[in-house]
Amino acid sequence: MAKKESGSRCSMCGVTDSPSNPVVTVLDGLNLCTDCIKFIDDARDSELGRRKKDVSVKTEPEATSVPKPREIKEFLDQYIIGQDEAKKYLSVAVYNHYKRINQASQDDDVDIEKSNIILVGPTGTGKTLLAKTIARLLNVPFTIVDATVLTEAGYVGEDIESLLTRLLQACDYDVEQAERGIVFIDEIDKIARKSDNPSITRDVSGEGVQQGLLKLLEGSTVLVPPNGGRKHPEQKLIPVDTKNILFICGGAFDGIERKIASRLNTHVVGYGHDEAGRKRQRENLMRYVMPQDLKSFGLIPEIIGRLPVLTSLEPLDKAALRRILVEPKNAIIRQYKKMFLLDGVELEFTDDALDLIVDKAIEYKLGARGLRSIVETIMVDAMYDVPSSSISKFTVDAEYVARQLEKANFEKTKMTD
Ligand code: ADP
Repeated sequence: MAKKESGSRCSMCGVTDSPSNPVVTVLDGLNLCTDCIKFIDDARDSELGRRKKDVSVKTEPEATSVPKPREIKEFLDQYIIGQDEAKKYLSVAVYNHYKRINQASQDDDVDIEKSNIILVGPTGTGKTLLAKTIARLLNVPFTIVDATVLTEAGYVGEDIESLLTRLLQACDYDVEQAERGIVFIDEIDKIARKSDNPSITRDVSGEGVQQGLLKLLEGSTVLVPPNGGRKHPEQKLIPVDTKNILFICGGAFDGIERKIASRLNTHVVGYGHDEAGRKRQRENLMRYVMPQDLKSFGLIPEIIGRLPVLTSLEPLDKAALRRILVEPKNAIIRQYKKMFLLDGVELEFTDDALDLIVDKAIEYKLGARGLRSIVETIMVDAMYDVPSSSISKFTVDAEYVARQLEKANFEKTKMTD
């Protein structure tokens, strides 16, 4: 216990005890003045702070801590409904990818090649969500880019390299982190060659972009404009090695069923007895997608070769949409319940209310993406009134859903096919 000894001197700086800077004995034979005690305290705090930072750097995910495929799939199951096959392919590919990075330093002749992924499936079935969720699990930089904004250098639009700008921005320009990140390229089908024959005239939006993209997918050092957009001569470019960046591409590939059907020697139209039968058949066909179908669709073979993991997503039926509303960890309904609970109000949705929401999403052809906008429309009045009221429970039933949708004239947002 520190005690005061009059007339003593600080063992550290030699100052004598004074009312403005008293000296205390902290141990037998060790006296310290108040200024020196403060100095020691500050030094200790800053050292502790530094060590804490070091620890947090060490806990960054390393390739060794990459979860096993089964664990990845289980994590995905918490957020994404169905799509079991895509989840499995993705889990294995991602696990192998980060295992490969880990092995890179080993000195042997076996060079494990990168396994970029291509997800084929109708819009709004969870392609982006899958990629996003994986990135969150691995805690690696992640970005989504739309292939349609990319053009060959020299044309109006964004240079292909600029898609790495966003990845850099996602990790505060930490190049090392970006170099093991994940890039999701959406609408890859939109840069397909329009016909199977390469035309003599330059194809601005199609093959040229694919050729540019190839460089990135293959793994090379690319000069990235730090602010994206087009390259400006005055911009200092950042070299980024894409060797260990995982590219996940997604696309709806509308009409690819026909290519699959012709390869399988079946006919899409007229094969089923009714529209439902034909629809089922189309849906089933997507499962058989093979690299050669992507080629018939207009992707160049080199690109297909660089996307060795090919898997498809299923269209979401009524049962899946119903589950999406309530089951995922951050399901829309759970989010609303939480929001109301923060105001001390219990929110309940009856089963028939949920069924009606799903029916409307199907009717409006909005799919999973529309579930949120429908619920948002239904709940706006309650969100406005409930916080100022004294109620402790709010129930949403089918009648309320119907009334609110009618009121909002939701028909306006109905999409035409
Ligand atoms: P895609 O990339 O296939 O067009 P998204 O992944 O962007 O579709 O899906 C749009 C939204 O719909 C997601 O943010 C999510 O809320 C919901 N959604 C789509 N598919 C699923 C699914 N299988 N499970 C849970 N939510 C889904």
